[in-house]
Amino acid sequence: MVFYAKANCEVAAEGGERVTDVGQHRMVFLGPPASGKGTAAAALSTALGVPHVSTGQMFREAIRKGGPVGEAAKQFIDKGQLVPDEITVQIVRLWLDEHGRKRGFIFDGFPRTLAQAQAFDRMLAERNLPLTLVLLLDVGEEEILERILGRLSCEKCGALYHVTRIRSQRAGVCDKCGGQLVRRADDTEETVRERLRWYQQLTLDVVKFYEQRGMLTRVDGSGAKERAWAAISALVPA
Ligand code: ADP
Ligand code: ZN
Repeated sequence: MVFYAKANCEVAAEGGERVTDVGQHRMVFLGPPASGKGTAAAALSTALGVPHVSTGQMFREAIRKGGPVGEAAKQFIDKGQLVPDEITVQIVRLWLDEHGRKRGFIFDGFPRTLAQAQAFDRMLAERNLPLTLVLLLDVGEEEILERILGRLSCEKCGALYHVTRIRSQRAGVCDKCGGQLVRRADDTEETVRERLRWYQQLTLDVVKFYEQRGMLTRVDGSGAKERAWAAISALVPA
């Protein structure tokens, strides 16, 4: 894989820490909501033993623990807004300094704005930790709508289904516990289009940022998830 080799050579040539261990994966997963990037990142994390890092999860943990970062982030998350870049970059910096050198990382949900991508770039350069893969999981808007609007979850156990993709044996009834299958209240066409607008406004700048640097790898995320998964596993040396 091209980026991988390039990243390793640069590090070695600069006389910094040698990254010859192919277990050193440093990846960023980008993609619109419901593109399947969270699922793919989790699967890859299990397959490689590389931590799956989500800023959303970091925030939820910081809120649970209490303290100034959690307090600050909570105000924005509760309103459905993005947490300001300064706080987000700070929480990632703390994570990197504590865990970044151990087993690599797969970032999911970060960077989400151009300013975050620029700050992340500087942080990684300072620590001599070049990214080995920036992956964009591409899915068209109509398919995203179809995916989200068709989602069903069990009222009782939370199991996930989809009206056409993952059907239960009996319509409207959970296979696992017999509970009722319901639609999430915020999965309406209006809120989905709103989330997509945010994605387009902010995250497409992040996509361009990596594209201009020749670092972006696009994978077709449409259709069955096995197809995207095959393409992704082919990109990553085990
Ligand atoms: P979602 O996919 O619903 O955004 P996440 O778990 O990724 O769920 O994030 C939850 C919340 O945390 C987001 O709605 C946002 O407020 C905040 N958040 C997560 N990642 C970032 C980020 N990179 N920049 C700013 N805010 C973020
Ligand atoms: Zn159930």
